Amino acid sequence: MVEAITRPTQIEISQQALKNNVAVVKKTAGADKIFLAVKSNAYGLGLIPTSKAAVAGGVYGLAVAIIDEALALRHERLTAPILILGISPAEYAELMAVQHIMATVVSLDWLKEAATYLSGEQRLHVSLGVDTGMGRIGFRDRAALAEAIAYVQAHHDLFDYVGLATHFAESDSANTDYFEMQLARWHNLTDGLPEPEYYHVANSGAAMYHADEVPHEVIRVGTVLYGVEPSRGELADGHDLQPVMALRSEMNFVKQLPAGEGISYSHKYTTTGDEWIGTVPIGYGDGWLRKLTGFNVIVDGQYAPIVGQIAMDQMMIRLPRAYPVGTKVTLIGRDGDLENTLEDVAQHAGLAPWEIMTGMQDRLHRVLVD
Ligand SMILES: *Cc1c(COP(=O)(O)O)cnc(C)c1O
Repeated sequence: MVEAITRPTQIEISQQALKNNVAVVKKTAGADKIFLAVKSNAYGLGLIPTSKAAVAGGVYGLAVAIIDEALALRHERLTAPILILGISPAEYAELMAVQHIMATVVSLDWLKEAATYLSGEQRLHVSLGVDTGMGRIGFRDRAALAEAIAYVQAHHDLFDYVGLATHFAESDSANTDYFEMQLARWHNLTDGLPEPEYYHVANSGAAMYHADEVPHEVIRVGTVLYGVEPSRGELADGHDLQPVMALRSEMNFVKQLPAGEGISYSHKYTTTGDEWIGTVPIGYGDGWLRKLTGFNVIVDGQYAPIVGQIAMDQMMIRLPRAYPVGTKVTLIGRDGDLENTLEDVAQHAGLAPWEIMTGMQDRLHRVLVD
């Protein structure tokens, strides 16, 4: 395949920042092994480059939502352990076993159905999921969980009892009531049952703020490894996290306009004097949302506001002076003394940082830097 990079609008993934964050999170959580959540195109950063950088940076395993994502990783010869967080159709049990992909199991029926597809040539690694209050998927009943574990152990020729897990609905807020409730349920549901190879319960919030209270040798995190502080400031205490993602482009057209000229669809912006206006080839078709009008991007170490409506593929910015075509534009990231974080973008759009990330579209090229 020809790898055509014809576009100056790119997402940069900092390998050094990712590596730094792996070390910070391991230390803070006291974790030996990290499964990095790379579901949904690695939160928009790019499944393959991000996974490669993460494994090189010390991540143990990769967590995805669906089998397709796991197969894409195997196709690129990534050999790290892969955990599927969601429910996979049981008919693909043999495929998962052969590809060394760990399945999340949340019912005995699933195990029984999967058993009919398994040849036993490779055992299927399973992680049993317990619903302690997320209300999404998982065993909510101790007897049913015990029965499923017993089934897995009785069918050791087909299954390997690797993980036992739960997921917290709120682990990154000052109010810990809900977290404590889930933790109490976790103990009620799992204490005294046969132990798996490892427990994995901590997401970013639990890993950063509750590591002492939960099993933390193996953790399952996304947000925090991408350098986003999960409580968004509420509980931040100077973790040395570094932003992994930058988003940059270049101006491809620059002009001076007199007062009274309308900019972009519906002329929502009109120049008020002589103004230098630059055009940047990025738009909401890339995931750079229309709500970001008015946000300041960085040009030559100075802020430049986005003016007028953001179009599907292009947007305009007001410049402090004339700049040549080709001048770099930093939408997310550092340029000179200024830095736009994902949190800044998210705040302007009234969204969460991970929604901004996940919205980044495929046609943005992803490049590994430093
Ligand atoms: C997405 C996901 C994670 C990672 O969550 P972060 O808050 O980004 O760390 C962990 N576990 C499960 C089950 C998930 O779906």
